[in-house]
Amino acid sequence: MKKIKIAIIGYGKIASDQHVPSIEGNERFELVATSSRSGEGVEAMFTDWRELLRTVEGLEAVAITTPPSVRHEIARECIEAGLHVLLEKPPAATLSEVEDMACLAEAKGTTLYATWHSRHNPAVHAAAQALAGKRIAEAQIVWQEDVHKWHPGQQWIWERGGFGVFDPGINAFSILTAIFPGSLYVRSAALSVPSNGHTPIAAEIDFGSEVADGPLHASLDFRRTEGEAWTMDFKTADGLRVQLLDGGSRVLLNGEEQQVSGPGEYADIYREFVDLIDERRSSVDVRPLRLVADCLLTSTSKSVEPILM
Ligand code: NAP
Repeated sequence: MKKIKIAIIGYGKIASDQHVPSIEGNERFELVATSSRSGEGVEAMFTDWRELLRTVEGLEAVAITTPPSVRHEIARECIEAGLHVLLEKPPAATLSEVEDMACLAEAKGTTLYATWHSRHNPAVHAAAQALAGKRIAEAQIVWQEDVHKWHPGQQWIWERGGFGVFDPGINAFSILTAIFPGSLYVRSAALSVPSNGHTPIAAEIDFGSEVADGPLHASLDFRRTEGEAWTMDFKTADGLRVQLLDGGSRVLLNGEEQQVSGPGEYADIYREFVDLIDERRSSVDVRPLRLVADCLLTSTSKSVEPILM
């Protein structure tokens, strides 16, 4: 079968850590080009993504792994050129940009795939099954990491449209919206914003839901220096405890670890991208981004000490 020629636009940490090996490990794709302004990359390398689009013959798909603030402009031109488009998370800087891309892809008959990598853990599916149909007594989400360890030199995180602590926090929201057994809304969000940045470094969030009897709380913080915590802890009204640990890669039911296995987050993402392309379908779930937007709409905000950039 003829391989799908794919290029990566935005060649940084996640492109080299995950996208390149996952594309190379998928027999349906052929990685033909990459683009970043500094000229980093593999295969045919471009410093201008428009030149990549003009130059590479037979290109059918792109993975856009730039920071979110520039994705809409790039994705629009790719879709206009008839390409199938995979978007890293978060899919864009705003909900309206995502809606615009989805409409355009539908009109052009191309596939648009807004990925949420954390959902591609088998433990997440196991947690969803365990929580299905239950009432929730309480839930605690702790998503904390050292920004200097996990995002070294990534200035864009502190710029407008850079998401700040919601860059990792949206991973938690992507899992939450996939496994929570009812609708969810943001009741309040208290943000801490460094005095020299535009985006929050920490957020304390309370959610509400018609299936919840007690508190649903999320604590996001980029200032953690002792290791990292990416955990979710649910107690159901009928006495079940469901814990997701290590960013959704491990699941415990009533304290007992469940054995789960799968191909890996990004291998599974590219497997799904092939299915979507073959079936000429799109997959665009904005619920995690909507929760971030609602946090920002309902937030109180305080200025905290500047971040060392
Ligand atoms: P990064 O290391 O800063 O890489 C982003 C890349 O995009 C840079 O190499 C940059 O290269 C390029 N870029 C920026 N603006 C561009 C433009 N206008 N045109 C073309 N290329 C451009 O960031 P990252 O960690 O890979 O994160 C990128 C996205 O992946 C974010 O949305 C993030 O949430 C998501 N993600 C990251 C991780 C992770 O572990 N890091 C995990 C999952 C998802 P130049 O400056 O040379 O152009």
